[in-house]
Amino acid sequence: MRIDLHTHSAVSDGTDAPAELVRKAREAGLDVVALTDHDTFDGLDEAVAAAGRSGIEVIRGVELSTRFGGQSVHLLGYGPDERHPGLAAEMELIRGGREMRLAPVLDRLAALGVPLSEEQVRVQVGGSPSIGRPHIADALVEAGYVADRKEAFDRFLADGGPAHVPRYAVELSRGIERIHEAGGVAIIAHPWGRGRDRNLTEAVLTRLVSEHRLDGFEVDHQDHDLETRARLRRLADRLGVLGTGSSDYHGTGKVDHELGCNVTSYEVFTQLTARLRPVAREA
Ligand code: AMP
Ligand code: ZN
Ligand code: FE
Ligand code: FE
Repeated sequence: MRIDLHTHSAVSDGTDAPAELVRKAREAGLDVVALTDHDTFDGLDEAVAAAGRSGIEVIRGVELSTRFGGQSVHLLGYGPDERHPGLAAEMELIRGGREMRLAPVLDRLAALGVPLSEEQVRVQVGGSPSIGRPHIADALVEAGYVADRKEAFDRFLADGGPAHVPRYAVELSRGIERIHEAGGVAIIAHPWGRGRDRNLTEAVLTRLVSEHRLDGFEVDHQDHDLETRARLRRLADRLGVLGTGSSDYHGTGKVDHELGCNVTSYEVFTQLTARLRPVAREA
């Protein structure tokens, strides 16, 4: 069984339509793929419908924008009730924060000598309800200012970069609670990627498990080197939580994140699905 639990479609900042992503996941030899777009469930119905035709299993998920100690932390939620009011309201707030950030980012880019109109960004956003920095990066590429998304982040958009503007994100512990209230499983994405280990220490992860019943965290992810993966694996085992693996596929939007480049073991996957709490769902 090959199981990839974290991917993005063009419904957030990936480049494949959900059905296209599912087709490629099947071609890549995956048996299970989770679609986890940033702060939206909008691609899930299309992905599940495509799966029904191709024989691959699609897990419904989301990657929630949260914050801990002033740092951005991504929280994966698997199988929550998508109509749960608390979770839905929180996701709407986050998407609103994404919208409000656009104007100040464009102001900064103009001051930096790389002006973009809102329209130029909207073209890249397409129909996505979850506008992200990668869309702004794509507009910079399209305008000829940079060669690719990576250069756009390195020069302008990365955390702490000259055109980076923070936006609203839910407090991490509250995000975990919201996913749990909605009956989902909460897994921290790439916890020690891009310097997050500064705040998200072993002690903090331990406390999130004991006090907030965090279900686990990603171990095998491209943002983690081999030593980091080994340390996270030991920690997950010691805490008795789920250590997952994933590609964090973004289509052509991210290099070195091919579908199935990291996978979750069948054993961890069965434990994860066993943790999904049945919640009362309206017909
Ligand atoms: P946003 O959600 O709009 O704040 O943008 C965050 C997304 O941008 C992440 O999910 C990554 O896909 C991407 N990203 C963040 N930092 C970088 C970076 N330094 N280089 C390339 N992509 C990045
Ligand atoms: Zn992304
Ligand atoms: Fe992420
Ligand atoms: Fe992601």
